[in-house]
Order: sequence, then structure tokens, then C-alpha cells
Amino acid sequence: MALLSISEPGESKPITHAIRKRAVGIDLGTTNSLVATANAGKVQTLCDHEGHCLVPSVVHYAKDGKVMVGDKAVEKGSNDSRNTISSVKRLMGRGFNDVGYDLAYEITENTDGGMPVIETCVGSKNPVEVSAEILAKRGEEELGGELDGAVITVPAYFDEAQRQATKDAARLAGLNVLRLLSEPTAAAVAYGLDRKQEETVIIYDLGGGTFDVSLMRLEQGVFRVLATGGDTALGGDDFDRVIINWIINASGLDKNLSYDRRNAIAAVARDAKHVLADSEEVGVSFEDWSATLTRDTFNSLVDELVESTIKACRRVMRDARMEISAISDVVMVGGSTRIPRVRERVAEFFQAEIHTEIDPDKVVAVGAALQADVLAGNKYGDDILLLDVIPLSLGIETMGGLIEKII
Ligand code: ADP
Ligand code: MG
Repeated sequence: MALLSISEPGESKPITHAIRKRAVGIDLGTTNSLVATANAGKVQTLCDHEGHCLVPSVVHYAKDGKVMVGDKAVEKGSNDSRNTISSVKRLMGRGFNDVGYDLAYEITENTDGGMPVIETCVGSKNPVEVSAEILAKRGEEELGGELDGAVITVPAYFDEAQRQATKDAARLAGLNVLRLLSEPTAAAVAYGLDRKQEETVIIYDLGGGTFDVSLMRLEQGVFRVLATGGDTALGGDDFDRVIINWIINASGLDKNLSYDRRNAIAAVARDAKHVLADSEEVGVSFEDWSATLTRDTFNSLVDELVESTIKACRRVMRDARMEISAISDVVMVGGSTRIPRVRERVAEFFQAEIHTEIDPDKVVAVGAALQADVLAGNKYGDDILLLDVIPLSLGIETMGGLIEKII
């Protein structure tokens, strides 16, 4: 921001009273991250130098110290998985013993009992540092560093440690965090549901590796999360896996595939899955084998996965002791909600209006950008100052690791 503006004689520049603040919303996803910025209610998603808006949340560390983020890191990962860190969001604010699943990279226990340590060829990294690499690329590179603030989204179920780790990552990346916003709240804001007087809505978020369903109640500008549910190990990767298995069975390939060949099949499977969102069938080929996968076959392969998300929805309704008829809107979030079978089943179950108008992998960043614009102080129309209520207790750690609940 210029404090003094010098004009040539005869060329008088009007003084602008309100200098627009540059604020962004960042959806720091487990699989992908997205940045958006809003101006007077209009939202634009920002792309990186390669022209990609949806950037994989993947960081690659090379021996020479070079750090790559996004598609380039994914490329490196195909033959250097130990130094390619994906899904780091799962490690944020968690302890070593919370990680009960296999990772393609090595983690060790932190002697201080904090987050697990990620061992790379350039030394130990903690999850906050890895997240900061993603945020730094997304927040700064694309805007040339002229940023006044950012709203970063986190899952509704993130506890205080996970939220604090996200804030620390942002600070390390040089970002001024205006606020952390719950992902489901951001999705509801993107659809303008916060402008309604009273609403009970479902946010159905099926991403790359996780499924989250949130039941929210809006009253006079305050969003309350009534219940959350889902599965932290269910997402697009599982839909890929059923196609991978179908390919292996149909082609008669040996089940003991090398890591590289399995990776190659996974890429074929993912492409086929994406095509099936808009087509009734897709040609699938691998090496000298080829076949056609129809939408019907795909539907029968994924039915069990889809049903388990519906079961989670039923559970959430039960937890909140609420009837399905109370739901007025269902917001679809996450790339995997493009799968037609998913949309069909969710619409059937809730018998409510299903929102898919906003690109499901952009909707969280769009809501965050709208909030960021208001919080940065850019005023327009009726200002909305949104409050969301988290479903967890917040407290401070007192002596001996005990938590004193404050809220
Ligand atoms: P996250 O919130 O976990 O970062 P996203 O919302 O970006 O994830 O979703 C990524 C997932 O969406 C991937 O598994 C990807 O394959 C899937 N996806 C993206 N587009 C489509 C599509 N057209 N059909 C089916 N799945 C899709
Ligand atoms: Mg997401």
C-alpha cells in the first residue's frame, strides 16, 4: 500500500478512500487444495503458474533441497514415494499412535510426544512444515505476496490441537489468518444459505480419502453443527480401488503386481471413473488388454461404498434425534460427489433439494473467499458476519496434560 502518491503535473490521480484488501479463502484439503478470492460477492478461483486451480496437496523433497508442491510433486512421487508427502492433513495435530494406517513415507515417534516426525532425504519434517509448504505456494506464489489475510477451512470435527497446527502452518507460510472456518459452514455460505432465516441443512462431503457429513442448523446468522459423522477412511481412492480390482480380474493379470504397474492401473482406473461421471460407458485399456466399463457395472461395483455413506447419514440424523423431513437443503461437496450414483442415492435418501450447481471441488474455497472478503474489511451491501459453533469443547491444557474446559 502506497503511503504517498506522487503524480506528474496535470495527471492528478483520485485518492481512493477505501483501498481494497487482498484476502483469500483457502481450502486446504487432504487430497487437493484450492484458493479463491471474492470481490463484491463475485468469486474467482486462483490458478498456479501451470494453470491448475485444483492443486494436489502433495509435497516432494529432493536431495538438492528443492521443494515441489502439487502436480510436479505427484509426478516425482511415482518413483520416489519416500520423499513425497501426501495426505499430511491426516497427521496435523495428531499423535504418532493415532496413525493406524500405512503411509508410503516414513514417520517416527516424536520424543516430545507431539505430532509424528516425517523422515525425508533432507531431514526430519513435521506435519506443520509440510502443510506450510502447500499454503506458501498457494497463498503467496499466485498473488505475488500482496496478501492482507486468509480464511483457511478445516473439518468440523478438527479439535483444538488440529486447529492450532493449521494456524501454525499458516503463520509459518507467512499468512495472516483472519479466521479458521469449518468446511461445512464454508460450503453453506457458498450457496448463500447463511442469508436464510432458519434452516436445517446437510453438508455431504465425499473427497479423495475422507467422507464427512454434517447436520447444521442456521438461526439468525449463526451456524450450529448439530451432529457430524462420516468415515476418515472412505473416499475417491476407494472408488478407484474397485475399478482397479475390476481391471485385474477382467484382464486376468497376476494379482502380485509390481508397485509401478499397480500405479499405472490406478491412473487408468481414475481416468475411467472421471469419464463415467458424464458418460454411460468408457473404454478401459492397460498394456495389450482392453474392455468397456459401463455405468451400470460401475454402479454395482460401488453400491456398497455408497450405501455406507448413506448409513452414516442415517446415524447423524439419529444422533440429532431429527426426522429426515426436517432437512430443507443438501449441499454436495468434494470431487467424488460427481459420481452419478452418489447423487442419486443422496437425493433419494433426503428427499430434499440437492445442491450441485457450484463445482463440488470449489465450493468450500468459494465460501471461505466470501468470508475472507468481509473479514478483511471490504464492505459491500449487507455485511454478513458469520459465526459458527463447533461441536467440541475447547479448553486449555493445565498441569499434567489435563484439559480445563472453557467452552
Ligand atoms: P479432498 O477434499 O480430499 O482434498 P476433493 O474434494 O478434491 O478431495 O476430491 C478429490 C476426489 O474427487 C478424487 O478421488 C477424485 O478422483 C474425485 N473426482 C474428481 N472428479 C471426479 C469425477 N468427475 N468423477 C468421480 N470422481 C471425481
Ligand atoms: Mg475437501
